[in-house]
Amino acid sequence: MLKRVLLVVASLTIVVVVGVVVLMMSIFAGNAPMPDSGPIAGGKAILLKDGFVAAFAIPTGNHHVALVDCGNDVEATSLLTYVRAQQLVVDGIFLTHAHTDHITGCAAIQRAFPGAFLAANTLELPTLTGQAPFHGLLTGMAGAKDSGLVAKPLHDGEETIVGEVTVKAFAVPGHTAGSMMYLANGVLFVGDAANGGADGHIEAPPRPFSDDRVQAIASLQTLAKSLAANEVNTFAFAHSGPMTADLTKLLAVRP
Ligand SMILES: [Zn+2]
Repeated sequence: MLKRVLLVVASLTIVVVVGVVVLMMSIFAGNAPMPDSGPIAGGKAILLKDGFVAAFAIPTGNHHVALVDCGNDVEATSLLTYVRAQQLVVDGIFLTHAHTDHITGCAAIQRAFPGAFLAANTLELPTLTGQAPFHGLLTGMAGAKDSGLVAKPLHDGEETIVGEVTVKAFAVPGHTAGSMMYLANGVLFVGDAANGGADGHIEAPPRPFSDDRVQAIASLQTLAKSLAANEVNTFAFAHSGPMTADLTKLLAVRP
């Protein structure tokens, strides 16, 4: 009897795992491929690849950087390997949102660079600290979970000066309630608020991982109307390769 139950449980587990893998592959299959770690946008930013997700470094002068997100690895191995090889100093981290593949490396990065600040949309703090769950079909299944991270609250439109660079925050609710994009050095760090399609289109964030996809699309369109074309040179996505900025593409986001 026990053997049969175990067999059923094992079979169901395999079905679920295979299902999630197939779903992930189908969702990310149409994305523009992500390059390896290295400078993008003529050195205005550095892509830090961590498997299927990218974090970024914003050069802020004299080998100092601010990071955007922390990757999916609890030791932040690939990020810290690149940062150390380039002899960079991390002064702070801006979170695009609190999904695990963007925050898991933060504690290790803050251990490596004590004093590096962590900042996130004030509306994302409840999910970061386990006060509220996400509402996506898949992301909601995990329930509320305290990451243990302590972040400085940021508001829509807020500017933070780090070294020689001003980092401007834009609230783009939808993928998560507190999703934030950042603009620095002409690079717009999109997080998961959108993806770059291999065919050059901008894709709305995948439904199973997003709190409210309709709101996400509205946020992208509002942002596209509020930015000036000469402010943004590059879109830097978290799950697809960077793209030359084109606000009309953001406005025409594929639903
Ligand atoms: Zn996400």
